[in-house]
Amino acid sequence: MTSNSIKPFRWYLKKTARGGMCLATLPSKRLLLSNNQSNYSLLRVLTYHRFGNVYRDPFCIELKEFQAQMDWIARQNLAVSLTDIESFLAGKKDLPRNAVLVSVDDGYRSLYLNALPILKQYSIPAVAFITTSNIDSSSPNNYSKNNETIEPYLTWKEVEALAEAGIAIGSHALTHRSLGKMSLDEAYQEAVMSRESIEKNLGINVTAFAYPFGTFPDFNNSTTLILKESGYKLAFTSQHGAIVPKLDPLTLPRIKVEGGEPMWMFRLLVYGGLDEWRLIDRMLWRLQQSP
Ligand SMILES: [Zn+2]
Repeated sequence: MTSNSIKPFRWYLKKTARGGMCLATLPSKRLLLSNNQSNYSLLRVLTYHRFGNVYRDPFCIELKEFQAQMDWIARQNLAVSLTDIESFLAGKKDLPRNAVLVSVDDGYRSLYLNALPILKQYSIPAVAFITTSNIDSSSPNNYSKNNETIEPYLTWKEVEALAEAGIAIGSHALTHRSLGKMSLDEAYQEAVMSRESIEKNLGINVTAFAYPFGTFPDFNNSTTLILKESGYKLAFTSQHGAIVPKLDPLTLPRIKVEGGEPMWMFRLLVYGGLDEWRLIDRMLWRLQQSP
């Protein structure tokens, strides 16, 4: 929601941890890459949020970094679409090994202003998960609140332009609250009303959902059932990991791309260097739960 620049110590600690994990898993991933006996592909869904030149904000990626990443993905021929992933999960289509789908959460305006021209330049398909009650809700330009710069959300006109440019539009719920922490009735409303809102405004079919926050406590068996009943075919969490055929299509993992990381880390992340990050996430979550 804000340009939440974090303190230098925490920033460098996390960067060291992410980089360290990438490097530590490199030898095993190399073995995996050279092992052609494996008969299925692995693919990953990358999560982005905002695009701009904000210093030390893990949710905002600098444009020159994003450009370099998309350039590399295009040259490696790794970009796939949401529809490709649906066919892949159903076992109907194989995809290049280490293929990636670009996903962008929350529906901030920089997706339209800054990321779309780059996605178009390299013909990279992507999916935008929007929180529908935020659309058309803010002033059109960046504004200041409590000394922080706040980026506005998209308007429906801009979401329409994204859809027309070939970006798939999915739901990120109605109000960006944890589905796992509300009543089942409320969760059902969040799922159905957001889908209907997108369908009504854009005249398209919505089949994909991304859980707000998407951490361990934000989804469970009941929420996946609710999404299924609400007409969704795919749902994405923020748990790190690769996608393989036959995985539960309603709790799919993704990999978060953070700002301020070098290209070598991005390449390793695409090859699986951060697949195991979910173990760290779970450990941190357990630590927070303990008294
Ligand atoms: Zn979100």
